[in-house]
Amino acid sequence: MRSYPEVHNFIAGQFVSDSGKRLDVYNPRHGKVISSMPLSGKGALDMAVEAAKAAFPAWSGLPVKERVQVFFRYKTLLEKHLQELSELVMDENGKTFDEARAEVEKSIELTEFACSMPQLVYGEILEVSRGVECRVERKPLGIVASIAPFNFPHMVPHWTIPNALALGNCMILKPSELVPISAQKIASMLKEAGLPDGVLNIVNGDREIVEAICDHPDISAVSFVGSTKVAKIVYQRATGNLKRCTALGGAKNHLVVMPDAHPAMTASNVTASMSGCAGQRCMAASAMVAVGNVDHIVSGICDEARKIIPGENLGSVISEAAKERIEKYINEAEAAGAKVLVDGRNWKVEGFESGYYVGPTVIDFVKPEMAIAKEEVFGPVLAIIRTQDLDSAIQIENSSEYGNAASIFTQSGGMARKFMENASAGMIGVNIGVPVPREPFSFGGWNDSKFGVNDITGKSSIDLWTNLKKTSIKWNPEGKTNWMS
Ligand code: NAD
Repeated sequence: MRSYPEVHNFIAGQFVSDSGKRLDVYNPRHGKVISSMPLSGKGALDMAVEAAKAAFPAWSGLPVKERVQVFFRYKTLLEKHLQELSELVMDENGKTFDEARAEVEKSIELTEFACSMPQLVYGEILEVSRGVECRVERKPLGIVASIAPFNFPHMVPHWTIPNALALGNCMILKPSELVPISAQKIASMLKEAGLPDGVLNIVNGDREIVEAICDHPDISAVSFVGSTKVAKIVYQRATGNLKRCTALGGAKNHLVVMPDAHPAMTASNVTASMSGCAGQRCMAASAMVAVGNVDHIVSGICDEARKIIPGENLGSVISEAAKERIEKYINEAEAAGAKVLVDGRNWKVEGFESGYYVGPTVIDFVKPEMAIAKEEVFGPVLAIIRTQDLDSAIQIENSSEYGNAASIFTQSGGMARKFMENASAGMIGVNIGVPVPREPFSFGGWNDSKFGVNDITGKSSIDLWTNLKKTSIKWNPEGKTNWMS
């Protein structure tokens, strides 16, 4: 098992130790400590904000074409260090190596998008009256913050860092205290790529730092990714302090399976969606709404699920507490009459006995009112809810308080169209189990899965990270234009 050096804050281009309390960082596959991180307080945040303020005039003053050169160089560094970065994600998060590598590859795609910023943010100009022109440009906000969850330690910081920085902002990143190590590598590689000191700063900690970010008078915008409970707190606190905020929350994603769905493809896609990254994806299938007689597909899903072996092609969940929470949902559903078809409880992986493993679990005949049907389980668990027609399936999906992703499996264009129109979610899939929009399309849910106007990636994020400056110009006094004197 690899261990890692102590995690430090990254302020003004330097890793800075913090003499306060520290927290152990675990490798969840082993259940063993691999590093420790500081639980920093407001003092560290103030230092980071001062560093960002000092860096902002020069960084925001560069043309965007110059700023993105850093990200071209950074992208080649990500590619060069793909193996090492993937191993690190695997170590601190518990996912498999292939999943970790896919995560870092997604960070590369996000960085590529930021490199295309000059093609996306050029302004507009029009002669609005004789001799008078109006022009519109995008200007950075100033100091912005990004607060990240545990489930994608590498990718989620890349949802915000490349775009916000390429657009001229300086940033404070607050990684999850469960997975703070990847952010250390991100900072040092950006420095190596030529990012000026102070443009990106990292402050480690927990709730205290998040609250201090929401309250800090010099931070203009806050992005948050995490659970709905905390997203609501952050959104209310940040906007209460008159900051711009986009806060992405949790999810309960429904996959509707129609009787005409392609059996093999549906079974493998649904299973991959519910079990990938041990179900710890905000886009994971969590509830399957089985319409009519789809027993053959349910049986195919069980066959697929039985091929997934924890410790081999399934990683661990993040903590002992997460394992207990997930197994409690399964126990309660079973006690309430649901049928456990594939049981992932009480898994032990040989050689990794203290790791936090839950095997793939398929539970049939779940009722919509059960907690497992309504709440986010965040583990490799598929709750199957039976219903008779597409209308009632859509009703079940719509009754969720969340609205991140929703998919339908069918070979009927008409059915797919009806679902696309009526599902209440921000990201819809047709015969796709994990309908993540790829760049340049933006990522973001609806309902209690996102608070705020903008999505967090893609073109929509440009509005999140910039203000529009409108300038009206008149250069012809001899024309005696009396409009806009
Ligand atoms: P979390 O909400 O517990 O933590 C997220 C961040 O908030 C962390 O940095 C943490 O330190 C901080 N935090 C925790 N409690 C806080 C509090 N009371 N006040 C202020 N800050 C606090 O989320 P998590 O467990 O790290 O991540 C899993 C959750 O994130 C799941 O609900 C998942 O669906 C969600 N998620 C959503 C998306 C999306 O795009 N919608 C993407 C990834 C993860």
